[in-house]
Amino acid sequence: MIRSVKGTHDILPDESHRWHKIESVLHSFMQQYGYNEIRTPAFEKTELFARGIGTETDIVTKEMYSWIDQGGEKLTLKPELTAPVVRAYIQHNLASNSAVNRLYYLDALFRRERPQKGRTRQFHQFGAEVFGSEHPEADVEIITLVYNFYKSLGFKKITLRLNSVGSVECREKYRKELYSFLKPFLTDLSETSKLRFQKNPLRILDTKIENEKEIIKNAPKINNFFTKDDVSHFESVKSILRELEIPFTIDPQMVRGLDYYSRTTFEITSKELGAQDALCGGGRYDNLVEMLGGKPTPAVGFAAGMERLLIALKTKLSKSTPEPVQIYIVGLIPSAQAQVQKIASELRVNGWSVITDLLRRSLKAALRDANRKNAKISIIIGEEELAKNGILVKIMKSGEQTKILRKNFINHLTSLDL
Ligand code: AMP
Repeated sequence: MIRSVKGTHDILPDESHRWHKIESVLHSFMQQYGYNEIRTPAFEKTELFARGIGTETDIVTKEMYSWIDQGGEKLTLKPELTAPVVRAYIQHNLASNSAVNRLYYLDALFRRERPQKGRTRQFHQFGAEVFGSEHPEADVEIITLVYNFYKSLGFKKITLRLNSVGSVECREKYRKELYSFLKPFLTDLSETSKLRFQKNPLRILDTKIENEKEIIKNAPKINNFFTKDDVSHFESVKSILRELEIPFTIDPQMVRGLDYYSRTTFEITSKELGAQDALCGGGRYDNLVEMLGGKPTPAVGFAAGMERLLIALKTKLSKSTPEPVQIYIVGLIPSAQAQVQKIASELRVNGWSVITDLLRRSLKAALRDANRKNAKISIIIGEEELAKNGILVKIMKSGEQTKILRKNFINHLTSLDL
């Protein structure tokens, strides 16, 4: 037997309609905020992610599913969505339609990580990006959108952690300073951090290793390197959030794994998750559009994990069952089957949900199956019905049965009070 690949999951019917629920809340939420959906291909040129995410990140160095196709092109299954969305934004010149573009997505992503609860190799993210505004209100719009989305789903114990990583100018100065600070500790650092030290010492702040966390406690803080504009941008973000009564904590160590962030970074965590407690992450990335070949365009966005949301919601959403079908149709003789299919089609065109018995069951077995499926009505066509151009309608709840003529059946069913 061939099993699914490690770190991938099937979403079976008793799970998929929980997805539908979240998806429908998400689509209407995004519509309320004026965001339009964008769908990008499942794979892109590898170069897009190398340039867009950063060559020394875990995603690019260790986690991408990449291959060379038959035409010699280097391709990668998308491990994140900001770079593809930015690519599409530039390629289709979306800036020419509107000075501000609000886009959202819901998509499958692929990263070869070590699977554990809340961490898989194929997973789904929803997210939003707003292009064209450098102002703090754009940052707040993104944060508020996702924060309120979680609130609307009934989350109480969520924490918004906020930071600013400053502009490029400030990060350059900070990087040098951090480099000098870390240099004496080099021998105490892990191999990964040693590598990061050479390429991008800021990423060492992301460490999960205890003794490195201790070292970092005394490291210089990025806020001491902010430009005047960085300070006022961050202050405005905080003050608008306070005005909106959205609580947050400042986490100066939160630099986020990806290189393209500038100024605001944020994360929302939930105590309802286990060790992998991040529900979503995001921030401002004013340089990415230019880095990927577009005109300089400020942008801010977030990405949120669907599976983690569903894990955290498990306790909140009652175990929902799929909507039952309304009508169950059974033909008692083989020659009735064409009529069964015809009636089913007619009913569906008229808006009813219908299933037919495909196993040529006996009447008793078919009605038992109709009950199991929670059908409200069964329609039975036997020899007599077929001969008289009629059907037998059974209301499942009361057991009441009525013989009616085939030509009247839609009117009859519509008039029933179920
Ligand atoms: P990131 O793109 O790494 O910033 O992740 C954004 C969000 O996606 C996280 O907060 C998680 O909710 C989710 N996520 C990231 N990686 C995985 C994964 N391997 N499996 C499941 N969810 C993930």
